[in-house]
Formats: sequence, C-alpha cells, structure tokens
Amino acid sequence: MAKYELLRQQLQYEGIMEPAQFFAPNAIEEHNLLRVHDSKYLNKLEAGSWSRQEERRSGFPWSLALIDREKTIMEGTRLCGIEAARGGIALNIAGGTHHAFKDRAEGFCLLNDLAITAYDLLDRGMDRIAIIDLDVHQGNGTAQITAQEDRIFTLSMHGEHNYPLHKPQSSLDIPLPDGTGDLDYLNRLDHALHRVMTEFQPQVVLYQCGVDVLATDKLGRLALTIEGCRTRDEMVFQACKDASIGVACAMGGGYSQNISTIVKAHMNTFKVARDIWT
Ligand SMILES: [Zn+2]
Repeated sequence: MAKYELLRQQLQYEGIMEPAQFFAPNAIEEHNLLRVHDSKYLNKLEAGSWSRQEERRSGFPWSLALIDREKTIMEGTRLCGIEAARGGIALNIAGGTHHAFKDRAEGFCLLNDLAITAYDLLDRGMDRIAIIDLDVHQGNGTAQITAQEDRIFTLSMHGEHNYPLHKPQSSLDIPLPDGTGDLDYLNRLDHALHRVMTEFQPQVVLYQCGVDVLATDKLGRLALTIEGCRTRDEMVFQACKDASIGVACAMGGGYSQNISTIVKAHMNTFKVARDIWT
C-alpha cells in the first residue's frame, strides 16, 4: 500500500509531474458501479456483511475506509477514461482491479475499475474500447464481466502458471511460460498490439500496466528487467499514439521485495507517457 503515496511524492520530487497535473477524485457515484456490479453485492460491500469466505477471498479485512478508498480509485480510473476518450493520456496512481467480478471480490480487487470505465465510455458513445492488461496475473474479472460485449476487446498477457487458476477467456489471451524474459515478452507483445490495433481498431485504450512482470517480483513468475518493463510501456503508448487514440492507465500489481524497485518501474510508466505525449 505504501507504494501509492511514494509514487505520488516521487513524481513531484523528480518533476515528472507538476502539482497542477494531479487531480483528486471524489468517490464514484453508485449509478456508475451499477453498470457493472450487482446491486446485492454492492449493498453487501457497503454494509460489511461479507461471509468469512468472501472476506478471505477479497484479500482485505472489511472496513468503511477500505470501501471509500476503493470508490475513490474507481472514480480516478473513470475520469482517466474520459480524458483518454478526448485523445489524451491520464494515469491513475492506483487501480487496475482486474480480479473483481460482477458479484464478488477476489485478489485484492473489490470493484473492477477497467470494466466500470469501459461501460461508462460505451454510454458516452464510444463503441470500440480495448482493455490491454499486462499485469502478470490474468484479468479474470474483466474477461468475465465483458465476455458478452463485442464493443470491448480484452487483451491479457500473463503468466500461464500464475493466479488465477481458472482463467475465463479474454478476447485475446497470451499465456506466458515461467521465466519469460524481455526478448520473448516484447516480441509477443508487438504481435498482440498489432492485432488489437489493426483487427479491432479501438477508439480508446485502457491499460493495466502492472509491474509484477519483473524478475524481482515475489508473486510474478516472469523475468522482465526494469528496462524491459519500460520498453513494454513505451510500445503500448507508441501504438496508441500511432493510432491517434488516447489511453487511460491503471497501475496494477507490483510486489518486488524492494519497494524502490516497484516505485521506479511505475515511475517509468509516467516518464514514458510524458515523453510520448509531449
Ligand atoms: Zn498482478
């Protein structure tokens, strides 16, 4: 949890972002959640009436502060999506909660910001939205929520032997063997991006840029270097820039032993974004 505050401080300290470039979202309004999540589930979340099993599966002990925090994160990504729909780039310092399902929490994700943002953009008249999920864990919640929606394309590149055990089908899944390094990873990403951009031709991209692909990650099983991870972000952003479309990012996972490695990798995403968009 400490990484989010450190990331914000470091972005300002290094002058990557000016204070005026930050926005602080309020909690998301319920109607935005109801596009994706089940009302009974939302009531349960608000009331804290989880069963022990539900709470364990979420990964968090329930608290009102936890729910408030999650709702703020959801609004952050939703507002990033609106900026992306205008052709710009915006990054949520948190978010990327791709393991949340319509009616249940899983793997530290209570509500699914990527799906919420995609459905909000559909309501705003967009009809081809790509969710590019490069976190090391498959985007199971996002895949299942959007499975019946042809206007949302989901790409998930992830460790094939990693959590989640059951992986609902994304529009395009790219499972990677343990120990996949920079070269193989970036080659496969290049092909995948080409497919998304030429076959689906999105009007906007939502990018889950988790840094748990690093070799140093405690939960990942891949072997990217920090430079490889930076190149990954650059390829996604450049593909969007080349297609003249905006992109909204949500940070996703990152569990390297050394917190400065995590912050550095996330910082690189912001730096690359700034370099390509200015
Ligand atoms: Zn992850």
